[in-house]
Amino acid sequence: MLKPKKGSAFEIGHMTIEKDGIPCTCGKIGCFERYASMKSLKDKIRKEYNLGLDVHSRELMQILGNGSELSNKLLDGYLYNLKIGIANLIDLFEPEAICIGGSFAYYEDLFIEPLKHKLFEANATFNGRKDIEIFTAQLQNDAGIIGACMIEK
Ligand SMILES: [Zn+2]
Repeated sequence: MLKPKKGSAFEIGHMTIEKDGIPCTCGKIGCFERYASMKSLKDKIRKEYNLGLDVHSRELMQILGNGSELSNKLLDGYLYNLKIGIANLIDLFEPEAICIGGSFAYYEDLFIEPLKHKLFEANATFNGRKDIEIFTAQLQNDAGIIGACMIEK
């Protein structure tokens, strides 16, 4: 099996989506995860609504879905950045489906349809490709760890 020499292969979260972007912990700037991770979204909601760390995910997502102008702007900006990264992956790998895991999966109602709209109605993909299923991981936040446990040595 081919193994990465420096452990940096397939670091999707660190592909650049903003050339003059936010510095990342990896040393680069404008990384995908700085704009489209759930952590980045929660940090932005906390910052814009002046909330502390004591406000947890469920409350933050309720705020995000409250329909206010600010929340809609935050959601739209987040999904725009997510669209850029996913569209790049679609153009690179030509998948039949994209499955999004992590805590994103707990808020499918808030994210999936608007994300599909951005990906498919705005012609974000090569040749306007629209035949890709977008869904959330059934195992939600546990998908990664369960998958890791299933790997045989
Ligand atoms: Zn990075």
